[in-house]
Order: sequence, then C-alpha cells, then structure tokens
Amino acid sequence: MNGEKTNGEKTNGEKTNGEKTNGEKPNGEMTNGEMTNGLKQEDSPPPIKKQTDSSLTDIEEAIPDTTNDQKIIDRVLDKTRGFVKYPRSKVKYRPPKATNEGLERDLLQQRQNRIESSSRKDKWKEALDRLLLTNNFPEFTGRVCPAPCEGSCVLGINAEPVTIKKIECTIIDHGFEQGWITPQIPAHRTGKKIAVIGSGPSGLAAAAQLNKAGHWVTVYERNDRCGGLLMYGVPTMKLSKKIVQRRVDLLAAEGIKFVNNAEVGKNMDAQQLLEDNDAVLLAVGSTCPRNIPLPGRDLEGIHFAIQFLETSQKRRLGNYNLPSLDATGLDVVIIGGGDTGVDCIGTSLRQNAKSITNFEVLGMPPKNRSVTNPWPLWPRVFRVEYGHEEVCAV
Ligand SMILES: Cc1cc2nc3c(=O)[nH]c(=O)nc-3n(C[C@H](O)[C@H](O)[C@H](O)COP(=O)(O)OP(=O)(O)OC[C@H]3O[C@@H](n4cnc5c(N)ncnc54)[C@H](O)[C@@H]3O)c2cc1C
Ligand code: SF4
Repeated sequence: MNGEKTNGEKTNGEKTNGEKTNGEKPNGEMTNGEMTNGLKQEDSPPPIKKQTDSSLTDIEEAIPDTTNDQKIIDRVLDKTRGFVKYPRSKVKYRPPKATNEGLERDLLQQRQNRIESSSRKDKWKEALDRLLLTNNFPEFTGRVCPAPCEGSCVLGINAEPVTIKKIECTIIDHGFEQGWITPQIPAHRTGKKIAVIGSGPSGLAAAAQLNKAGHWVTVYERNDRCGGLLMYGVPTMKLSKKIVQRRVDLLAAEGIKFVNNAEVGKNMDAQQLLEDNDAVLLAVGSTCPRNIPLPGRDLEGIHFAIQFLETSQKRRLGNYNLPSLDATGLDVVIIGGGDTGVDCIGTSLRQNAKSITNFEVLGMPPKNRSVTNPWPLWPRVFRVEYGHEEVCAV
C-alpha cells in the first residue's frame, strides 16, 4: 500500500494533520515494526522514511526539541487518548475509612480527562444529550448498574476497560450541576390516559417515556415514597435517596402524577383503574424474597434481607413507627454473598454490629477470567465490593 492507507492517511511517520510522531507513539511505545505485545508486525509494510527536500529544511527543525515534542504529545493525549494515559481508577466508592475530599476531586478530574477523550471540553452538553438518548436515569445507572458493558469493552481484551459507568455518572452529575437538566414538558398531549402501577426504575422509566410521547400518566405506588427498590432496597451509601427523589420531582414537573400509599388491589380498585384509563401498565417488580425452608427457619431473629434493608432505609428517612430491626451490638450472620449480601454487610456495619459473618454457597471465583469465561462474557472473577472493603478496614 506504499505507506498510504485506503482512506488516504499517510503512515510514513507523519499524521495527516502534520504532527510528527517520530515512530514513537505518544505513550512512549515504539511502533517501528514491532507490535506493543512484542510480536513482529509481519504483515505490515516496513516504515517508510519521510521524504523531505533538504534544501528547504530550516536548520532549527533539524535539532530535536524533545521538551516541546513531549508537550505536544501530552496535549494530544489529554484530548484524544485519555483512556490510554490515565489508568482505570479502581476506587468506585469513597475509601472505606476516609472522607477524603482531595481524593474525590482528583478522581473526578481524571474522570473528566477520560471523558474529554470522547467529548472534549466544550462538548459536555453534547455528551449529555447523547447519553440521555438511550438512558432515562444515568444518575442511577452511573451509581448502581453492575456495568456489564465494561465486561465487554474491547479494551478489556488485554487491559483494563473504560470506566463507562463512571463516565456516564460524571456527565449527568455535571449536567445537574450546570442546571442543564430541566423539566421537559411535552409540547403536545394525545389526550390518552395511562396508569402505571409501581414506581421502581421500570415504572419510572415507562412513565417517563409515555409522558414524553404526550400521554397523561399517573403512577400508583403502595409505599409512602416512590422509587421502588432504589428508594427502599439499595442502601443510601450506594445511592442517595435525594438523587432518587430529585428525579421523581423532575418527572412530576414534567407532568406525571404520582399517587403514593395506593396499593392496587387493596386500597385502590384495579377495575376502576381499567375503566378510568386507556391502558394500565404493571411495573410491580418482584418484592418476593427467596426462602430457605430448613429446620429452625422459624426461629426468632431470622429475617429476609429486604425486610432488614427496607426498615433501615425507612427509619433513616424518619419513619420510626416501624418495629426496629437493628443490628446494633449483635452478632450478624448473612447468608448469601451477592450484592444484597454486601448491602447487608454495609448496613450492619453502619449500625455497629458486634460481628459480621457472611456465608456463600459457591467457591471462590478465580482472580482472572478462566478459559471458559472469555471476553466479552461477563467476567466471573473474584470481586471485593464496598462492604467487604469496609468490614476489613474496621
Ligand atoms: C438490596 C438490593 C440491592 C440491589 N442493588 C442493585 C444494584 O446495586 N444495582 C442494580 O442494578 N440492581 C440492584 N438491585 C436490583 C434492582 O433494585 C431491581 O432490579 C429493580 O429495582 C427492579 O425494578 P422494578 O421497577 O422492576 O421493581 P421494584 O424496584 O421492585 O419496584 C416495584 C414497585 O412496585 C410497587 N408495587 C408493588 N405492588 C404494588 C401494588 N399492588 N400497587 C402499587 N404499587 C405496587 C412496589 O412497592 C415497588 O415500589 C438490588 C436489589 C435489592 C433487593
Ligand atoms: S453502565 Fe453500561 S450497562 Fe450500565 S447503564 Fe451504563 S452503559 Fe448500560
């Protein structure tokens, strides 16, 4: 191909924008016919020396200015290859024992630099608009999504994946900080009425979409607050209830009506809803914990995780009418090592449990992907979640 790619880009050590690369990639890796993983680039054409007319070369250009070259490299890297320059930051949540504002700011800056690689400084708004095209509530997913996308990120083949989840969280948080997230009231109404039963993330997302389409939407929720498990399930340290309420308030301002303490089938007539609406949508989730019917299951002091977490959330929000279900001063045994188990660890810790023991039926997963679990499958590897870190730190 004579040093020219099919798209017309030259590959002879000069980028089409005229920047020299001197055969060295901006991260310092050599590209002289040797791939970065040490394999020879057998199939690639040999690098072609830059053709120059020596009679036109300025003497100053012949002297390499490495300091300036490095500055250019750093500038280019910052703008276009943040994900190469900045390693993936492993701190997902605040360090277990720290309230370290400086650290948070540093991480935010790195996240921003990573984001700038795709959105550039002046394109935050564009990044936000794009994000909102496919995600109704990035402020939720950016905090609590398990991020299966990161397990499939192409960088993950031989390096750490891009922090997609954090990036979307930073974009939406920035959008809220800048005041860009305002109620989007539909310009036209269809006149159709739709009832949504359940205000968890699925009910809220459905309501948001239906409202956007111009329908009149009413959400019925049996609990005293909307949000489903986002409000009364996922603990506050993972997802602040203020963030959930902020979105519910925004949806209300966009024209969605919320009716709380309305349990359809009990104190709200289902038949009536059918008659009063053009459509009824069920988004009631599955608040149905799995039991283990073993001898002794009915002994005192054995509770479902969801009961424990919901009670804890409600009491934190000021509802002290509920019977106390508190781990303070107790030896706590948590059966199940998944995300809910971790949330119970974190909550018990905050309630000053005397000791916490966690049982998991499965063996310890491998540190790295096994051969039967290749990219882009979800990596089934050993993970240390926030609750584990915290419990080890105290
Ligand atoms: C402890 C815990 C932690 C979790 N952590 C995460 C996490 O970190 N990341 C993640 O991605 N997922 C997490 N999940 C899972 C996630 O919360 C659920 O997948 C998600 O909430 C399901 O959304 P949903 O809208 O379908 O149902 P839900 O969130 O359960 O919402 C259903 C709503 O319907 C209401 N409802 C039910 N019946 C009626 C009725 N008859 N009338 C009126 N209202 C009714 C309920 O009160 C509830 O508010 C977690 C789950 C739990 C239990
Ligand atoms: S973190 Fe990944 S999987 Fe989760 S919502 Fe964002 S893009 Fe989707």
